[in-house]
Amino acid sequence: MTATTQTFIDLGYIAASILFILGIKMLGKQERARMGNLMSALGMLIAITAAMFECCLDFTWVITGLIIGSLIGLIAARTVKMTAMPQMVALLNGFGGIASLLVGWENYHSQPDSNLLVRVAVLLAVLIGGVAFSGSLVAYGKLAGKISGRPILFKLQALINILILAAILICSLYWLYEPRGIFSYLVFLFIIALSLSLGVFSVTPIGGADMPVVIALLNSYSGLAASAAGFILLNNVLIVAGSLVGASGLILTGIMCKAMNRSLGNVLFSGFAKQSGKAVSTSVQGEPKPISAEDAYYVLEAAASVIIVPGYGMAVAQAQHAVRELGEILENNGAEVRYAIHPVAGRMPGHMNVLLAEANVLYEQLAEMDDVNPIMDTVDVCIVIGANDVVNPAAREIESSPIYGMPVIDVDKAKTVIVLKRSMAAGFAGVDNPLFVKENTRMLFGDAKATVQQLVTEFKES
Ligand code: NDP
Repeated sequence: MTATTQTFIDLGYIAASILFILGIKMLGKQERARMGNLMSALGMLIAITAAMFECCLDFTWVITGLIIGSLIGLIAARTVKMTAMPQMVALLNGFGGIASLLVGWENYHSQPDSNLLVRVAVLLAVLIGGVAFSGSLVAYGKLAGKISGRPILFKLQALINILILAAILICSLYWLYEPRGIFSYLVFLFIIALSLSLGVFSVTPIGGADMPVVIALLNSYSGLAASAAGFILLNNVLIVAGSLVGASGLILTGIMCKAMNRSLGNVLFSGFAKQSGKAVSTSVQGEPKPISAEDAYYVLEAAASVIIVPGYGMAVAQAQHAVRELGEILENNGAEVRYAIHPVAGRMPGHMNVLLAEANVLYEQLAEMDDVNPIMDTVDVCIVIGANDVVNPAAREIESSPIYGMPVIDVDKAKTVIVLKRSMAAGFAGVDNPLFVKENTRMLFGDAKATVQQLVTEFKES
C-alpha cells in the first residue's frame, strides 16, 4: 500500500470518528436527532470503505456479506413493527457482541502465539462479547414475550454465578499464561462457553421494571467488546466507535438507574435478595369506576389544564396521531395541554418521545416527570394513555411492592384521572396498580386509539 493511500485511509478514519461524535451529540436533541443519525451513518460508510482498502481483503466476501446483511436490515426495518423495536434493538446488541467474540476467536485460531497485549484484547472481546450476546438473547426473549418478563429465580443461582466467575478467572489466567497447544485451545473454548452461560444466568434473574437498565448495560457491553476487537485488529476507528457505544451505554445505564431510583448493584443483584425470602404483596382492594367516552368528554370539556401521560399501550395501539389530535382539540377548547414523559415509559429509552415526534407533537409541550409532579395537585385532568407501571402509586405507598422507591408520575394527585386501557391487567412489571381504584380515577376501557378517536368525535359532534 502506498503512503498516499494510507494517508487517505487515516483521514477517512478521523472523519468517521468526528462524524460519530457529532452524530451522538446531535441525538441529544429531538429536532436534530434525524440529522445526527444520518451523520453517524455517513461516518460508518466512510469507516467501512476505509477499512476495506486498509485490509486489502478479497472484496468478494465483504461485498457478499454487505449485500446479504443490508437486505436483511432493509426487510427488518420495513417490516418490524414499532412495538417490536425494543426486542430488535436487544438482538442488534447481541449481534454486536457475537461479532466481537468471533473476531477474538479467529485471531487466536490464526495467530495462537500473539503477544500478551493482543491476548488480553482477545480475552476481553470473547468474554464481554459472549455475555452481551447470550444476555441480549435472553433480553430479546423477555421483551418479545417468548419467556417470562419477570425475574426468573432458582435455587443456588448466586452460587452458580460465583462459580462461573471463578472458573472464568482461573481459565483466563491459565490461557493468558499458556495459549499454545490443544489443551489451551480447549480451555479457550471453555471460556467462551462460560461467558455465554454468564450472560444467560446474569440476565434471567432481572426482569419487570428493571429491564431498561439491563438493555442499556448490554448495549454498553457490545460497545466495549467492539472496542476490544478494535485493539485486536489494530483498527483505530473500531476502538473509537466501540468506546463511544460503551461510554454512552454506561451513561444511559446511569440515567435509567436514576429513573428507577436504584443503584446498578441493586438492579443486578436484587433478584437474589428476593430469592432469599422477602414476600411480595401487591394485591389491590377496591372497585374500579368505569366511565363512558361521552361522560369522559364532559369532564375534559370543562378542564382548564390537562396532562397527557402516554405509555406502552399508546405504542401498541399506535394511538399517537389520534392523541395529538385530541391534544389540539383540548387546546382549542381553552385548556393548557402538556405531555408528561416518564424516562422508562414504553419499552425502550425515548420510546414515547419518538412516537409523539412522529405525530408532530410540539417539543415544547413535552414535560419531564420532575417538572409535572410538583404541580400535579393543580391539574384538572390527567389522561393516562396505555401507561401503567410509570403511574403506579404503589411505588410510593406500598413498601412491599417490587417497584417501591421507583419515581413515578403522580397522576393520582390530579383532580381527576382518566385511564385508557383495555382491562385491569398489570403492566410490564406484573404489579397491581392501586391507581385504578382510587376515588378520583375513572377507567375508560378499550383500545387506546379507538377510545381517543371516540373522544375526538365527541368534541367534534358537540
Ligand atoms: P406498562 O407495560 O406498565 O403498561 C402498559 C399498559 O398498556 C398495560 O397495562 C396494558 O393494559 C395497556 N395496553 C396495552 N395495549 C393497549 C391498547 N391497545 N390500548 C390501550 N391500552 C393498552 O407500560 P408503561 O409505559 O407504563 O411502563 C413501561 C414498563 O416497561 C416499565 O415497567 C419499564 O421498566 C418497562 N421497560 C421499559 C423499557 C424502556 O427502555 N422504556 C425497556 C424494557 C422494559 P391492558 O392490557 O389492560 O390494555
